[in-house]
Amino acid sequence: MKFLTIKKAHCASILVILVAICSVACICYAVKATSSPKALYTIVIDAGHGGRDGGAVGRTTEVTESYLNLQFALKLKSICEEYGFNVVLTRKDMNGLYSAFATNKKRSEMEKRMEIIEEANPDLVVSIHMNSFSTSEARGAQVFYAETHSEYEEFAQKVQDALNAKIDYAKKTAKSSDFYVINTTPIPSILVECGFLSNPEEEALLVSEEYQKDFCYVLFYGILSYFSVR
Ligand SMILES: [Zn+2]
Repeated sequence: MKFLTIKKAHCASILVILVAICSVACICYAVKATSSPKALYTIVIDAGHGGRDGGAVGRTTEVTESYLNLQFALKLKSICEEYGFNVVLTRKDMNGLYSAFATNKKRSEMEKRMEIIEEANPDLVVSIHMNSFSTSEARGAQVFYAETHSEYEEFAQKVQDALNAKIDYAKKTAKSSDFYVINTTPIPSILVECGFLSNPEEEALLVSEEYQKDFCYVLFYGILSYFSVR
């Protein structure tokens, strides 16, 4: 097949990932068992956009980025919780995070995201987005770190490496960017553009429940690299 959703040896690869996940997760549980019933680490998963801000739109299906961001965030949350992490979502449904009375809805939304992150005081923030470009050729998942926090470049690259190893067309290099959430919070954070809604083939993958789940497992494996070196 020309366009594979996940690179060759899919099943074997996922098995290897799960073994690796289990080894780190076991450490997590072992420490938990001897200290506190609470999860050892907290991750904020930040689904971008919401409400009247749908973000990018799929060219074929007209699916909104805000919907897909939420689907990916919910699946990533389930996986993280499955392996003992405490997860806080900034957005749990399709409603926007802005105040209905705010004149500047974007600012209100961003302030709410930061408020949730500050309250959760997590170890890590993972912001989820879908990309779009003016031409349909662009495709591939990419990880961003804050240009104000170059110390997280190495971690972002490890997540990028995990995606690149398993996801077709994923970019090779993580990039810095001035995205508001990851630039504003002092907490270690990355933003993941899971793929391009402007590319019809990638759009077809991104709307697939199975692809979303596989992608989130690979993303989780990449995220574990942060906790394994702390
Ligand atoms: Zn976005």
